[in-house]
Amino acid sequence: MPLAAQTADELFRRNIGTPDQFNKQFPPHKVIGNIYYVGSESLSSFLVVTPQGNILINSCFEATVPVIRASVEKLGFKFTDVKILLGSHAHADHMEGDALVKKLTGAQVMAMAEDVPALMKIRPADKPHPLDKTLHDGDQVKLGGTTLVAHLTAGHTRGCTTWTTQATEDGKTYDVVIIGSVGVNPGYKLVNNDEVPGMAGEYMRSFKLLRSLPCDVPLGSHPSMYNLAAKYPLLGKGPNPFIDPAGYKHELDIQEHAFLQRLDEQKKAAGL
Ligand SMILES: [Zn+2]
Repeated sequence: MPLAAQTADELFRRNIGTPDQFNKQFPPHKVIGNIYYVGSESLSSFLVVTPQGNILINSCFEATVPVIRASVEKLGFKFTDVKILLGSHAHADHMEGDALVKKLTGAQVMAMAEDVPALMKIRPADKPHPLDKTLHDGDQVKLGGTTLVAHLTAGHTRGCTTWTTQATEDGKTYDVVIIGSVGVNPGYKLVNNDEVPGMAGEYMRSFKLLRSLPCDVPLGSHPSMYNLAAKYPLLGKGPNPFIDPAGYKHELDIQEHAFLQRLDEQKKAAGL
């Protein structure tokens, strides 16, 4: 599709989908190696399975947690085997369910330092947000032979986190990237932003960093970031459809195009 067809607002709507999709189960499935999809139609949640327990990436809304649990169990895993809970970024659609997941599994909750202030404000029914460990850019999270690396890809939130790991399938090792988000939401101020004066610079650093990461298997905090709906029907009918390095570059291209367009609009409107 032509780059100009996607504005930041269009990508935002593409990512969040419709409200009825938030908590509607998407068929749980193996993505690659020890990585499984346990999220909804519009909110990604990934289960990384290891011999020493499992890692869950994204609790989503609190109301999504029962959907995630049902997906984990449908795949034959125990929800109580979740030992570590990670997240993409401090927005309710990705991390509101942290307290409930912690209550149900006892998992250690870890989050990027720059996202902690925003995370502490996500309190469904006024429950305090759990946090067992604060992470920093480049930190590794290890469990049962699997290593996940936390990359700070700020802009969308101050501590937005892109997770990378490696997965093995049919004797080959693949680089997996779970994009935190580089979307510019409606209302975001990229210029003259008193609260986050460096926001545009944070996005630019994130695009540069994301482009530097080796990626065979692009994933994201919303399944539309890697076109899950189109790839899922191809599962088991040929090569693994999630191996899509060109799709990773394409996603970064359309997101960066939309970001630069929005930045330009805001600069012009501000007379800069
Ligand atoms: Zn977000």
